[in-house]
Amino acid sequence: MAELLYEGKAKQVYATENPDQYLIHNKDDATAGNGVKHDQFAGKGVLNNTISCIIFNMLEEAGIKTHLIEKLNERDVLVKKVDIFPLEVIIRNITTGSFCKRLGAPEGKVLAEPIYELCYKNDDFGDPLINEDHAVVLELANREELAFIKEATLKINELLKAFFLEFNLKLVDFKIEFGKTADGEILLADEISPDSCRLWDVETNQKYDKDVFRQDIGDLIETYKEVLARMEKK
Ligand code: 5GP
Repeated sequence: MAELLYEGKAKQVYATENPDQYLIHNKDDATAGNGVKHDQFAGKGVLNNTISCIIFNMLEEAGIKTHLIEKLNERDVLVKKVDIFPLEVIIRNITTGSFCKRLGAPEGKVLAEPIYELCYKNDDFGDPLINEDHAVVLELANREELAFIKEATLKINELLKAFFLEFNLKLVDFKIEFGKTADGEILLADEISPDSCRLWDVETNQKYDKDVFRQDIGDLIETYKEVLARMEKK
């Protein structure tokens, strides 16, 4: 049995025979509110893995460098080994979520320009919002790396927005993570799925993402299945 290197809320990371590669296993767990709310949904790991691989392949074809090497099976992907920057990189195209809670801003405002945010990925502090100066002082990334991450993230936003619009979903906001290889190359890592994006139906604004679990307003598996069905119908 391969060595388990790390276990997160929704994933396990295993060593492989190749020291430059990891295997990521997607679990069925869903958490919200920094783990306060926790449940399991049979098949969620399969749905997330399938959706995320389609998106990562689309981004690769568009010139974004990612950690993905290949999808091994329903739940597992082989990826390039990276050290993850302890940063949650967030884009908002429409206001909602913590932005509205924190600032008392109105919900659902379509933004003329995307808002770019960085959070320090650290559960003990509740993933606090930080700026680039904080990230440099905390040695989470240097200026050059931060500039690369911001430029790549804005490009990824444009690609994802257009991609989801093709099947009638608005990309409201999302969180991504980056990592660095031993050679110093910065790659998009982690995953992109309805766990990490907010997606609203273009006509009805119905939510097709983890907010159905966070807010108890729908069936998570049926919701994620609908996202995948739309993507596969394209
Ligand atoms: P908010 O800051 O409004 O809670 O979230 C902004 C966006 O980032 C949403 O799309 C949300 O799903 C995503 N996001 C924020 N924190 C996390 C996290 O810890 N894990 C995941 N998977 N997504 C997150």
